[in-house]
Amino acid sequence: MKERIPQRIDYHRYTEQGVKLDGIMSKTECDKDLPRLNEAIIDNTGDIHYHLAFDTDVLGNRYVTGQVKAQVVLQCQRCMDDFKLDLKCDISIAFVKNEFEQNQAEDSGYDIFWLETKQLFDPRVLIEDELLLALPQIPMHLESEIGLACDVTVQIIGDKSNLTEESHINTDDTMTGDTMNSAEQNDKENPFAILKQLKNK
Ligand SMILES: [Zn+2]
Repeated sequence: MKERIPQRIDYHRYTEQGVKLDGIMSKTECDKDLPRLNEAIIDNTGDIHYHLAFDTDVLGNRYVTGQVKAQVVLQCQRCMDDFKLDLKCDISIAFVKNEFEQNQAEDSGYDIFWLETKQLFDPRVLIEDELLLALPQIPMHLESEIGLACDVTVQIIGDKSNLTEESHINTDDTMTGDTMNSAEQNDKENPFAILKQLKNK
């Protein structure tokens, strides 16, 4: 019933015939077929939903639009716990093989997928690219989850009452306002290093 995603498609034929690909990649397929994504995440939960519609427009751009949805497991860089994140990518990509096509496609508002010499490509590469782009640079629990999973961290970094307490202690000390500020800045610049130290204790 469920068709596997093709491993090679001819983008000329697909965009000319308006082919649509709808389906789900299982966990086994994700584990095997998306090595770059798997390297960037703790785990995938499988079931990557893809909907890809190939077409050409009046200017001759060959493009694919659609959506890719997946759930991945990442490590929160604030509390170092794993958490699940839903990724949803809206796709609007033109296939280009030279600068002329690139310029035209960019003017039309498409993202670019280079296929310089090949007419055949693996759609899983495109899906993987999009999911990689959708990953957060610094994975962290969403704000709504703070307080549940990120409890420790909120106290250390976010809790202002802690800072007030600190500044009380420091007024008794010989510390000037300037050194306080720079100490605070250092904390801000490298909060994760401090957390790691705490974790390792
Ligand atoms: Zn967290």
